[in-house]
Amino acid sequence: MSKVSIDRKRCKGCGICIRECPKKAISFGEELNEKGYKTVIIDDEKCVGCGVCYHMCPDCVLELEG
Ligand code: SF4
Ligand code: SF4
Repeated sequence: MSKVSIDRKRCKGCGICIRECPKKAISFGEELNEKGYKTVIIDDEKCVGCGVCYHMCPDCVLELEG
């Protein structure tokens, strides 16, 4: 199960979470959201649920599960 949920419609593709994830678990996916921004995907194999991305995202896209 994924440790982080992604509210894609809020993402503006700034890439801060990609840069800050200590496990390099976040990358841009192919899909654009309804605002036309590239949004992120998370590799559940690499993610350790540390919450750094949750704290760094300026637009509250990422939410820790559980
Ligand atoms: S919870 Fe931590 S390891 Fe998982 S994607 Fe976010 S920053 Fe990376
Ligand atoms: S920090 Fe937030 S808005 Fe920026 S790319 Fe990551 S999820 Fe999207």
